[in-house]
Amino acid sequence: MFARIALEVPISAWFDYAVPPDWRAGLQPFDWVWVPWGKGRRLGLFLSYEASSEVPQAKLKTLIGPARDAPAMPASWQALVRFASRYYHRSIGEIGLPAIPKPLRQPGPLSAGSTALERAQRRARTVLSSSVATVPSPPPALTPAQQAVLATLRPAAEAGGYQPFLLFGVTGSGKTEVYLAWFEQLLARHPRAQVLLMVPEISLTPRLVAQVRARFPEQDTVVLHSGLADMERSAAWLTAAEGRARIVIGTRLSVLTPLPGLAGIVVDEEHDPSFKQPDAAFSSARDLALALGSIAAVPVLLASATPSLESWQAAAKGRYQLLRLPERATGAAMPQIRLVKPAPREVAGLGLSPASAQAIEEALARDEQVLVFLNRRGYAPVLYCMHCGWLSQCSHCSAYRVLHKIKGRYRLICHHCSQTLQVPRQCPQCGATHLEPLGQGTQAMEESLARRFPGARIRRVDRDVAQRKGAVETIFEEIQSGEADLLLGTQMLAKGHDFPKLRLVVVLDCDGALYSGDFRARERLFATLMQVAGRAGRAAPVAGAAQAQVIIETRFHEDPMFAALRAQDYEQFAAQELAEREGVGFPPFCHQALLRARSPSMEKALDWLARARALGEPLLAEGGPVMHDPVPMPMARLANQSRAQLLIESPTRPRLHAFLRQWLDVLRQQAPAFASDLAWQLEMDPLEI
Ligand code: ADP
Ligand code: ZN
Ligand code: ZN
Repeated sequence: MFARIALEVPISAWFDYAVPPDWRAGLQPFDWVWVPWGKGRRLGLFLSYEASSEVPQAKLKTLIGPARDAPAMPASWQALVRFASRYYHRSIGEIGLPAIPKPLRQPGPLSAGSTALERAQRRARTVLSSSVATVPSPPPALTPAQQAVLATLRPAAEAGGYQPFLLFGVTGSGKTEVYLAWFEQLLARHPRAQVLLMVPEISLTPRLVAQVRARFPEQDTVVLHSGLADMERSAAWLTAAEGRARIVIGTRLSVLTPLPGLAGIVVDEEHDPSFKQPDAAFSSARDLALALGSIAAVPVLLASATPSLESWQAAAKGRYQLLRLPERATGAAMPQIRLVKPAPREVAGLGLSPASAQAIEEALARDEQVLVFLNRRGYAPVLYCMHCGWLSQCSHCSAYRVLHKIKGRYRLICHHCSQTLQVPRQCPQCGATHLEPLGQGTQAMEESLARRFPGARIRRVDRDVAQRKGAVETIFEEIQSGEADLLLGTQMLAKGHDFPKLRLVVVLDCDGALYSGDFRARERLFATLMQVAGRAGRAAPVAGAAQAQVIIETRFHEDPMFAALRAQDYEQFAAQELAEREGVGFPPFCHQALLRARSPSMEKALDWLARARALGEPLLAEGGPVMHDPVPMPMARLANQSRAQLLIESPTRPRLHAFLRQWLDVLRQQAPAFASDLAWQLEMDPLEI
């Protein structure tokens, strides 16, 4: 008798093991089992018993046994892993095992001593009881719009069953209150009901977690994200998997948490690209949330002020039920958006246009907070030799090394391969001794602002600041309590925050996306600008106060995207953009997959893709998918690897999957012979092409 086991190894969909006599029965699908691997052992998921195996008897190893005290994986989790495995064309082990926190997968002592699992279980017992006591906060009276949305959501909460909703609510419309009120309905369904709240990034919304805990002080709430210490995450994961945590707040990886009592899912900021990441087989956590809703027969609420065009289209077609919150919950007006030209380069010393500088000065004089948005960290994006034109190109990547100032010293850092170098004293090309920073990043802007507005308490927020533990949290508190005046930051400051004193937003240098070759760049820019604009003027209006303001510095005032932005009319933008995509047949009007190859040589990568393409040609059906030519990726070189891609497009999903299944089978068998030193991967529904 044999056991078929899924492992986190890409070479095979499963591995067969002989079963010791005492384990000839009793293993259930997806039970955690230990198998021998090399000199050690690894965790696998049991798939099935088999009467025969193709592995020669002599090579066959014997299963070690089930993992002690492992939680049972609920049927919905098993089905979701199977679905994701089919959809993303990965093995069950590649999808299911990374979803289990690392310490729980690591082999511990076999007999004596406690395993990581047992330690996490002990920790889990205390994790809930020791969670900080929160002051309960009663809900505000809901606005009529919030009430109407909840009236539509209530039947779905009470009856259960899969139903997808898209909540389209402007920034500040009080979406969070809707989630909280809906959770109350969902948690009332049964005594072990669980809800899942997915957010793009937890560290950026510390208030959200506090809000949830304050509203549900009686319910165990756990938080799951990759920033947690291993044991902490394992313990939180276990309380969720054992059904004890009733509210789970998590980032993209939380969608694959086993939740035996799942009653409903909310995906906040559903458009956010961070729900899709190169980990977990390039899966989209938003799409998996919908799949999970359908599998577990529970309602799913996607929410955004700027829904992804895919979701918007699905709502237009009636596949999702559209819910609207068209106004701010506090009664505040939407801010006024103004476009101004950036300062010409010669007078760019400050890096701000005169109009922006004046508006900032006036706002500070009124004792209002100001947010300057510059989505570029570091001191300057590139170092330049005025004499010969040398630029600080990274020698391993198709990118410039960025000038950074670290503890008063300048360094050149590549944001892609992280290589850090001293700044050369002389131009490496011509020997000239004067090298100039070109353009401004947040560090330089911070210095400029400090010179221009000497009295202002300036706070910078970007990934560099965030490296210091607790730094960003402290700054968010200072902003809330009014101990900061002038905020400067990247994306990290744009998302989700509710800063009541903030009444002016200035956006710098956002034009890059307008001439990017990526067809989703405009959608992303529009969403970012709406989000960052949405930080201004959220608090209840004060009599006599002027309208909150947003100033956007751009050279492209005539671009139709800005007309929609100034009107703060997402629907106008979506209509424009969808019409354009329909015209050229881009998603959501077609379905895409990317085959990627990377190798030290670009020639090799392109050649490999060309041969892969030739193998696929005979499998293409009439009216089915088409394969484009292999091309270098937009970021053609990364850490000394050349990267190329081949785009596959299909009018329908089933045809795409049918083709990919056949093609990948052939590739897995034949492709290893094409080239050594080459890695390849398939990405479904790529966000960037
Ligand atoms: P969104 O997530 O839609 O951008 P938030 O949920 O952050 O908006 O809410 C914006 C602001 O409106 C918050 O300060 C919140 O406390 C407030 N708010 C939400 N609902 C109400 C309500 N019913 N009455 C008064 N204020 C509300
Ligand atoms: Zn030079
Ligand atoms: Zn590099």
